[in-house]
Amino acid sequence: MDARARQVQCGPMESFDIAVIGAGAAGMMCAAVAGQLGRHVALIDHSQRLAEKIRISGGGRCNFTNLFAGPANYLSANPHFCRSALARYTPRDFMGLLKQHRVTWHEKHKGQLFCDQSSDAVIDVLKHECDAGGVVWRTPLSVEEVRQDAEGQFLLGTTAGTITARALVIATGGLSIPKTGATDFAYRIARQFGHKLIDTRPALVPLTFAPADWEPFAALSGVSLEVQLSTGDKKTGAEFTEDLLLTHRGLSGPGVLQISSYWQPGEPIHINLLPERNAAAALVDAKNGTKRQIANLLSEWVPQRLAHVWLDTHQVAAETRVADLPDKTLRRIGEALSRWTLTPNGTEGYRKAEVTRGGVDTRGLSSTTMMSARVPGLYFIGEAVDVTGWLGGYNFQWAWASGVAAGEAAAEYARGLDGAMAL
Ligand SMILES: Cc1cc2nc3c(=O)[nH]c(=O)nc-3n(C[C@H](O)[C@H](O)[C@H](O)COP(=O)(O)OP(=O)(O)OC[C@H]3O[C@@H](n4cnc5c(N)ncnc54)[C@H](O)[C@@H]3O)c2cc1C
Repeated sequence: MDARARQVQCGPMESFDIAVIGAGAAGMMCAAVAGQLGRHVALIDHSQRLAEKIRISGGGRCNFTNLFAGPANYLSANPHFCRSALARYTPRDFMGLLKQHRVTWHEKHKGQLFCDQSSDAVIDVLKHECDAGGVVWRTPLSVEEVRQDAEGQFLLGTTAGTITARALVIATGGLSIPKTGATDFAYRIARQFGHKLIDTRPALVPLTFAPADWEPFAALSGVSLEVQLSTGDKKTGAEFTEDLLLTHRGLSGPGVLQISSYWQPGEPIHINLLPERNAAAALVDAKNGTKRQIANLLSEWVPQRLAHVWLDTHQVAAETRVADLPDKTLRRIGEALSRWTLTPNGTEGYRKAEVTRGGVDTRGLSSTTMMSARVPGLYFIGEAVDVTGWLGGYNFQWAWASGVAAGEAAAEYARGLDGAMAL
């Protein structure tokens, strides 16, 4: 059926300049900006609890941005798409906003900024900003269908009647953590209006291994160490030096979450367990003048439990003296430590993924306004779009930046329509 032809049959009608669907990070920012520019904005969400992903982010302290956020920290079929919005709304801009509201923060690691208070402080800032813009909250409310009338106005059929809006912003995020209210709404609307999607999959997610392959390492659950991880080739792959955590089912920790976003099913990942040294050469050198056992030596370099399992899986007795081992064996152990190659059998899926890779194809959107190139007045922002940040505050920075870009543009668009109607 023609999307523009059918009238939504619902109860009483409410009219707005702009309707934003999804009151998460991007949606609240967008609604606040558009409201403060004088537009009449409705912010709609089907969840009872507001901005659940902000609340649970950063271990409850919201890693709200990264000082070094730039296009190189994002994955997308079109890596340049995020450039304009990120340049116009920077980490410093969001820090300025928090400062106005007396929210304080600290830097933890590699430019990652966390609230000193709980994540609720960030939600409160966004709520206040929305209120300052006179944003009308419509939560919890489910949107059952979206249509356009002959004038291009959007008609939202909701469980409580029809909402009309001149501009519509879709900010319903990705598929990760369904229990927080995540749905495929953005993708359905994108498809309905003729947009292409880039295949979605869980990202920033723990990796799993076939039980038989993982059996020797399962007992190491809880062991963590800093490693260098890589996957893929120069063009599509990546390399990170971050912590790794062994679990019952596979690998987790920041380094693994980072590499998971780049990992392609069926491909191996490579781990250098001793990025600071040439392990093979160091083991051979250690033969000179030492009576130490190999397990004791290795335990200085990696956690003791890992050292023992490593030797076991390489058929070397833990108590063997380093001096008694042939160079060839020491080199074999060392080279394996420097390049542990494993092929995951999958990931922990959307249940555990921090974000969704892929989404609304950016080739159908304006990089300055986030507006659809096909449907004037329709915008997609935040995680719903095929822009996926690294771990470390980058995803929120994209949510803020794309929210601001669309908020300003939608306000301008709705004002333009006002002008056209007055003529
Ligand atoms: C456990 C966890 C920790 C994270 N920690 C960080 C961190 O510290 N730093 C960082 O940068 N990123 C972090 N992220 C990622 C970050 O939370 C997301 O990238 C970001 O929230 C995306 O913003 P968004 O507004 O696009 O989507 P969301 O924040 O997910 O908001 C989408 C909103 O849309 C609503 N919605 C969905 N479907 C519908 C529908 N059909 N109808 C109406 N409403 C709907 C949802 O209820 C939700 O309120 C974390 C994610 C998780 C899961």
